Parts: sequence; C-alpha cells; structure tokens
Amino acid sequence: MSRIFSGIQPSGELHIGNYLGAVKNWTQLQHEFESIFCIVDYHAITQQYDPERLRVRRREMAVSLLSAGIDPNVASLFVQSQVPEHTELAWFLNTITPLGELERQTQFKEKSARQESVTAGLLNYPVLQAADILLYRADLVPVGEDQVQHLELSRVVSRRWNAMFARATGKTTEDGAEEREEFFPEPKPLLTPMRRIMGLDGQAKMSKSMNNTIGLLEPPESIWAKLRPAVTDPKRIRKTDPGTPEVCNIFHLHKAFSSPETVEHVAVQCSTAGWGCIDCKKVLAESMETELVPIRRRAVELAAYPKAVDDALAAGADRCRRLARETIDVVRERMGF
Ligand code: ADP
Repeated sequence: MSRIFSGIQPSGELHIGNYLGAVKNWTQLQHEFESIFCIVDYHAITQQYDPERLRVRRREMAVSLLSAGIDPNVASLFVQSQVPEHTELAWFLNTITPLGELERQTQFKEKSARQESVTAGLLNYPVLQAADILLYRADLVPVGEDQVQHLELSRVVSRRWNAMFARATGKTTEDGAEEREEFFPEPKPLLTPMRRIMGLDGQAKMSKSMNNTIGLLEPPESIWAKLRPAVTDPKRIRKTDPGTPEVCNIFHLHKAFSSPETVEHVAVQCSTAGWGCIDCKKVLAESMETELVPIRRRAVELAAYPKAVDDALAAGADRCRRLARETIDVVRERMGF
C-alpha cells in the first residue's frame, strides 16, 4: 500500500482553505493509503511566534484535525517535535542543498519581502519539509497548490541524495552510468479539486498569515459577519446587474459546500440577477452550517476530553518514531556515521 504524508502548521486556527485544500482530502485518503499526518510545530517557529500560544495552538490544531474527521485508529496523527529525527534528517539534507535553490522558492521570496530581518530557518523551511516527507519515504503528499513548488524541491533533494549516497545496484543505466537503488522515493503531490481557496478579500489565497480566513470552528454569527461584506463579482454593482458566477469567490465556495443542485440554481439566479449577492451568501452560509455543525460538535466533545487527544498524539508519535529511526539509521550509515 502506498504511503502518504502531509503536514500542517499550528500557527493559527485551521481555516476553510486548509480544510478544503488539504484536510478534507486527508479524511478520505486515510481509508485508501497508509497515512501519516503531522502537526509541524518546528515549521511554525520560522515566523515570529509566542511560545505560550504555540503550546495552546498545537493542541487546538489536534482537536481541529480530529474533529474534521482524521481517525487516529486508521491514520497516524502526531506532533513533529515529538520525533527529533525530523531535524536530524533536515541537517543532512541541508548539506546537499544549494543555496540558490532555496532562494528561488516563491514562498520564501513572498514571506521574506514582508519582514525586516530574514532568518536562516525561513530559508531552510523547504528542506525541513523535504525531511518530513522523506523520513517516512512517502510516495504521495496531499497538499494545496501553494505547496507544489516545495514538493518539487523535495523530489530534487530525494534524487540528489540517492545519486550521492544510495547503494549501487551493480548494474549500469541505459546511458552507461552506475545504477543506484532508490532509497528515497520521489514524492508526488496529490491535489484536490479545491486546490486554491481565495481569502474573503478576493485578493490573495486564504492564509493564516493574511488575516482573510474563515475558521473551521468559527461560530455562525462570526462567519456571517465575514461573509456579508466579502468580495463577489467586482462588475456586479447593483442588485439588478447580472453577475458572472465563475469569477465570484462566493460561487467558488458554493461549489465546495453546496449540493450540485444548489450550485446550479445559484449560477442561474446570479447570471439572471434573480438574486442579489446577499441572497446568494445566505444560502452559502446555510450550506456551510450543514457541513460544519457536526465538526463543531466533535470539537466541543474533544475539548472536554483532552485525554483522547493526548492518547491519539502519543500513539501516532510512537509509531512514527519507529519508522523515522529505521530511515535515519540507513542515512547515517550511508553518509559515513
Ligand atoms: P497557511 O498557508 O494558512 O499557513 P499551511 O501552510 O499550514 O497553511 O498549509 C496547510 C495545508 O493547507 C497545505 O497542504 C496547504 O497547501 C493547504 N492550504 C493552505 N492554504 C490554502 C488555500 N488557501 N487553498 C487551498 N489549500 C490551502
């Protein structure tokens, strides 16, 4: 059975961009693949953070993931810092990664442009991410579109490590070079149809760091307070103007939350000016409630029973530590340790 690995930062609440772009997919994939899901707290400290809040958010993220449907009896869910081999492998991979490859990463360029001083941790973030994935020798990585470039770097790092340190098979390749075993597979992205959810401002992707999110566990009044003024089709100024659903972020969210019949109805009402944008948003809010009510209910139950969360994370970490050790033992040996 192929193995999948994916991670999420505990740097803020789980938002519907994360949910639709990644986590909802995880809840289905866990039944098809051997699945490892990680709360990547070492990644979260590459941006400014408050240590006390990090402690709280780690747990909140675990509650959100379990509420969203990650089943710890089926998949392994754990916290990255509980398995120190992640940073050990990252160090080894850092030593074979050219600086230029890291400086070219779009997320690094965007994030570093927004801050005065840039740390080596932010630059090396994708190497730690490569280590996360390669440590479990994962074949597939379910992520949103924003992570595809990082994943490409993981593939390059995997190939490079194999070429430098994997054992020779004793055979030669077609072009006459020495063939090497593929100790690390080349991890491939698994994208969802909802690969890029835009923020409510319609300007940038929905992201914790952009303050344009709807939280997965947010109460309905608060969701409505954000939906009501959210950007729609910019050309639709009056209620009597017909809209173009395909350019509207709210219509995009309908496709994620509403039934196919409702989506069709919404498209007709929008393009014939039958409904105003507020009517359309009210229907979206109802569809969201249908999906989010059970998730919120599970979160309340889990918050009242912290032992269930701790047990799930401990079992996940135990299992992943064993797998990680197997990989690190080979890496150390092949790299001369
Ligand atoms: P954020 O960008 O909010 O800090 P993370 O970097 O922790 O989120 O990403 C967690 C997962 O959620 C990744 O797989 C990422 O691709 C996905 N993701 C994040 N934002 C979005 C979005 N706006 N649309 C789709 N997927 C997203």
